Amino acid sequence: MSSDRYPFSEIEARWQARWEESKQFRVQDDPKRPKFYCLEMFPYPSGRIHMGHVRVYAIGDLLARYKWMRGFNVLHPMGWDAFGLPAENAAIEHGVQPAIWTRENIDYMRSQLKKMGISYDWDREVATCDPSYYKWQQLIFIKMLERGLAYRKRSAVNWCPSCQTVLANEQVEAGRCWRCDSEVTKREIEGWFFKITDYAEELLAWCDRLPGWPERVMTMQRNWIGKSEGAEFDLPVAGRPQLEIRVFTTRPDTAFGMTYAVLAPEHPLVDSLVADETERARVGAFRAEVAKQSEIERTAEDRPKRGLRLSAKVVNPFNQAEIPLFIADYVLMTYGTGAIMAVPGEDERDWEFATQHRLPIIETVKRPPDWSGGAYTGDGVKINSGFLDGLTIPEAKRKAIDWLVAHGLGTAKVNYRLRDWGISRQRYWGAPIPVVYCEKDGMVPEKEEHLPVVLPPDVPLSGKGGSPLADVASFVNTTCPRCGGKARRETDTMDTFVDSSWYFLRYCSPRYERGMFERQAADYWMPVDQYIGGIEHAVLHLLYARFYTKVLRDLGMTKVDEPFQALLSQGMVIKDGAKMSKSKGNVVDPDDLIRTFGADTARLFSLFAAPPEKDLDWNDHGVEGASRFLNRIWRFVLQHAPEMLTASSVYVGGGETPPPTAPPGRAGAHTVSSPAGVAFRRTIHETIKRVTDDIERDFHFNTAISAIMELVNALHAFESASQDGVASDHHGLASGERAALLREAVETMLLLLGPFAPHVTEELWQQLGHRASLFKQAWPVADAAALVRKEVTVVLQVDGKVRSRLTVEVDAAEATVQRLALADDKLRPWLEGRAVDRVVVVPNRLVNVVTRS
Ligand SMILES: [Zn+2]
Ligand SMILES: [Zn+2]
Repeated sequence: MSSDRYPFSEIEARWQARWEESKQFRVQDDPKRPKFYCLEMFPYPSGRIHMGHVRVYAIGDLLARYKWMRGFNVLHPMGWDAFGLPAENAAIEHGVQPAIWTRENIDYMRSQLKKMGISYDWDREVATCDPSYYKWQQLIFIKMLERGLAYRKRSAVNWCPSCQTVLANEQVEAGRCWRCDSEVTKREIEGWFFKITDYAEELLAWCDRLPGWPERVMTMQRNWIGKSEGAEFDLPVAGRPQLEIRVFTTRPDTAFGMTYAVLAPEHPLVDSLVADETERARVGAFRAEVAKQSEIERTAEDRPKRGLRLSAKVVNPFNQAEIPLFIADYVLMTYGTGAIMAVPGEDERDWEFATQHRLPIIETVKRPPDWSGGAYTGDGVKINSGFLDGLTIPEAKRKAIDWLVAHGLGTAKVNYRLRDWGISRQRYWGAPIPVVYCEKDGMVPEKEEHLPVVLPPDVPLSGKGGSPLADVASFVNTTCPRCGGKARRETDTMDTFVDSSWYFLRYCSPRYERGMFERQAADYWMPVDQYIGGIEHAVLHLLYARFYTKVLRDLGMTKVDEPFQALLSQGMVIKDGAKMSKSKGNVVDPDDLIRTFGADTARLFSLFAAPPEKDLDWNDHGVEGASRFLNRIWRFVLQHAPEMLTASSVYVGGGETPPPTAPPGRAGAHTVSSPAGVAFRRTIHETIKRVTDDIERDFHFNTAISAIMELVNALHAFESASQDGVASDHHGLASGERAALLREAVETMLLLLGPFAPHVTEELWQQLGHRASLFKQAWPVADAAALVRKEVTVVLQVDGKVRSRLTVEVDAAEATVQRLALADDKLRPWLEGRAVDRVVVVPNRLVNVVTRS
């Protein structure tokens, strides 16, 4: 089998070397040319690339090469998200330093990517663990600190006991660590935060201004930001007029249905509300129980809500009713005011709690006739609601807020689910946070000229306890930048999501030494025109990068509001019904695949097997099919090259000089005149249109490949049919015309297929006498004249009455038109049981079937 295959190893190695030597994909800023910034999410250097990488890089490379051919100046860089936990784990397991482990992995993975022949500008490679990289995010940290955008506070954090680290909310999935799947617990800890909540409104507003993003991702971001509009107001404690509990609600219109109120167990007012030591003890026990649960468990919809009724009561200011007060696990201190008015009639969680605790339920919205019970959250007219009765819900919301404001009881209020971004990690392998603690001055930022604060090498790692840096005396003990006295360095490092929040800016001027990036370069290249990466980053990385870019804009460093103009979220690669993973034993190693079939086949298969946003189901037959297709092309081109070379190419350009001598019997494609030639040429140009449309519209790469495959079928059919034609001249096809058409078809096919399978197409392009790279050739444009169908619609009549219409070629033979007319489905019922007397054909106009009456 393998002997039948074209020599892909040799071809791929040759072109990879040639592209590298000629610096074909090195790119310069060029304000005279339109730019296209094509970016795949950079990988974590885990050791080897996997099929998910092959898929995403094949997509990115396709777009980059396509845009080059469309005349864009394309920036297509690659680098490494190089800090992170696995390096530390490897250090603990195998005793190799994280820096060395990471560098070795980068070297190996770079060599793998080079074997795929991706069109990266390797001169721009960056690794986030490089001090010349993280220096700049330390500088920005200090600027954020100065502006109050970075701050330190003690807070309850998500703690992974296995990773021994703090996790952001985004890193907790269903109560478990996103990385190791351990159950997450709570811990009180001092740590650093970025004030992303300051940007909540802008981040949300821009969700409506990025049409190039998938709606699904935007919805996830909107939900994560979680804006809710409503009211805040005070509930006086019955009999204790000096005490008030502030509540937040998104449904002030339901206030008349408030039958109890709830405080978060951690609410600071709880202590002053307890009546005696017995109650204090019960509250203490309840709090201890709740503390064992994560926020996710507490707010899960499918579990019973636990509560403790307090002796104190509160007063509903809308109707002066005294109502019970609870502390309950389903109310969180971190949302709103940590206290709610409970309206079981119109809130599902309140309804569930009220039912469990036998509390009254008042309906304040009229139910539809078919309503079967439970909380009602739909539309309707207000009832049982005093001065709100008869209003719609939006009207009642407004009126309730006006009433609260007029009585000095409350205000309109917007709340967000989004929390500030906790960036402290008690880990070694990350960017050091550039502050020191001085006995005299307290917390002091490091001086700019002392940056970078470099991570020390050779740090003992055990994987236990706090930050390993705390044990490194030479790192911890320092002098205060302000007073010169003794000081202690911060030993937390930054969340690696900080590193990946600006790497796309660094690529614009990766060796720039006077700042984070060169303003001019960033102004030229940013924003990223097409960003490509997995849906698992729909919230975390993408939201942080958007926030960080806005911070840099507000620091006056860039003009862009958003980093990514368009986003493509590709699906996973699955095999045997599951995501490829070592533990499931269903991994396909890209190295094996490339060795057996070549990089072009691997790429073509991954682009053909599924539309990019869908999961790709691995299938060995599909790989064989992609390989056969490329072999078929290879054989055809080599077999017919001598004939094709007798015709001139229609593709001359892109810096290429025309062939030195015009071939004899000049037969440019425009001279095609035989019916078979015209039809075939139409197929060629229809394929150009289809492939271009499929790439431009919604990235339908798989249907684009189908169109190219159809062209190859048409090419074979034309070739064998026209052999007779040339021999006998039956089709009126001159041999020059045949050669010209074969050449136009093959070269068009190579150009269209180039971005999908770059090595074999580049090789065959050269075999056809081209000296410049295929990827310097302009993308083919469909010839409008070739697309015109020379057809005409004729009217079909039976005994002078119009019964149907028929499309035929202009000036088609009368006999042909007559045969087609009599076979027409719509005509048949009118002819049934009748004998045809005669058929009148008016060329290009009509056919009249006259029956014997
Ligand atoms: Zn973990
Ligand atoms: Zn000091």
